[in-house]
Amino acid sequence: MKKAKLIIIGSGPAGYTAAIYAARAMLSPVMFEGYFSGPAGGQLMTTTEVENYPGFPEGVTGPEMMESFRKQALRFGTNILTEDVDEVDFTKHPYMIKGKTHSYLADAVIIATGANAKRLDIPGTRDGELWQKGVTACAVCDGAMPIFRNKDLYVIGGGDSAVEESTFLTKYGSKVYLVHRRDKLRASRIMQERAMNHPKIEILWDSEIVSVGGKDSVQHVDILNHKTQKTTKREAGGVFFAVGHVPNTAFLQGQLEMHETGYIKVKPGTTETSVELVFAAGDVQDHVYRQAVTAAGSGCMAAIEAERALSARGIE
Ligand SMILES: Cc1cc2nc3c(=O)[nH]c(=O)nc-3n(C[C@H](O)[C@H](O)[C@H](O)COP(=O)(O)OP(=O)(O)OC[C@H]3O[C@@H](n4cnc5c(N)ncnc54)[C@H](O)[C@@H]3O)c2cc1C
Repeated sequence: MKKAKLIIIGSGPAGYTAAIYAARAMLSPVMFEGYFSGPAGGQLMTTTEVENYPGFPEGVTGPEMMESFRKQALRFGTNILTEDVDEVDFTKHPYMIKGKTHSYLADAVIIATGANAKRLDIPGTRDGELWQKGVTACAVCDGAMPIFRNKDLYVIGGGDSAVEESTFLTKYGSKVYLVHRRDKLRASRIMQERAMNHPKIEILWDSEIVSVGGKDSVQHVDILNHKTQKTTKREAGGVFFAVGHVPNTAFLQGQLEMHETGYIKVKPGTTETSVELVFAAGDVQDHVYRQAVTAAGSGCMAAIEAERALSARGIE
C-alpha cells in the first residue's frame, strides 16, 4: 500500500488551505477531493456571488474562487485524487485511508469534508428553479444582497438558527416571516422571546411554504396553514432554509469522538481530534460560524498543527 505523510480528505476552503500550507511545509500532501460526495470545491460550487471573502472587493463567484484555491494547492505540489474516502482505520498507526481505487497509509490526516445545508423539496426552490435566485440556505452569506433589501423575507425553520437568521435578516428586509410547521418553536426560550418581541419578525404558526414562484427571482410564496387548511399567496423577496446541516462524517463512524449531531469534536482552540495526528478543519467541526473564511482559517491551523506534530515525532 502507498504511504503518505499527510492525507487531506475533502476539498472545500478548509481542505485546499490545509493543502497549500502543508505542501509549502514539504509534507507532500495527498488530497481526496471527493467525487460522489459532491463537487470538488465544496459548498461554494453551488453558489453564485461570494461577497464577504476578503481580497475580492468586487465579489467573486463561488466556482471561480474555488478554482483559484485548487490551482494554488496544485502549484505547491498537492497530489489531488478525484475520489471519495469510503473508509478509514484510525486504530493502528500509520492510519489506513481507503477510497474506491486508491488506498494509503498516512502518518497524519486532516478531515475537511464539510457539511451540507439541508433543504426541503419545495416546488420552485430546486436547482434550476429559484435556488440561488432568492432561495438560499445561508442568511449570513447572502442576506446583504440587494435583491433582499426592503422585501418581505421568509425563513423556514423553528430552531435557534432559524431565529438567529430571522433576526439577522431584519437588517435588510422590510419584514421577516418565520414559517414553522408546529405551534411552538424548538428554539431555546431566550431565542423564542427574541423572535416574538422583535417588531420586524412575525411567526406564521402551523404553516408551511408549499411553493415558491417568480420569473427571474423570488416574487411570491404559497403558504398552507395546517389548522385552517387554507393556502394563501403572499408577496416575497426571498426564502431562507434554516432547517439544519448534516456534517459529512458517516464514513468515520466509531473512529473518533463526535458530537451527537455528527460534528467532529476538537480540543477547544485547536483542530486536534480525539485521535493523535488526526485533525479536523472547516464546517465538519464547526456548527457555529460555517463560513468560507473560518473554514480556510481552520484549514491553515490543521496544517500547522499536523506539521508540528509530525516533526515532534521525527517525521519531516
Ligand atoms: C449556497 C451556499 C452559499 C454560501 N455562501 C457563502 C458566502 O457567500 N460566504 C461564505 O463565507 N460562506 C458561504 N457559504 C458557506 C461556505 O460554503 C462553507 O462555510 C464552506 O464551504 C465550508 O468549507 P469546508 O472546506 O469546511 O467544506 P465544504 O465546502 O463543505 O467542502 C467539503 C468537501 O469535502 C468533500 N467530501 C465530503 N465527504 C468526502 C469524502 N468522504 N471523501 C472525500 N471528500 C469528501 C465534499 O465533496 C466537498 O467537496 C455558503 C454555503 C452555501 C451552501
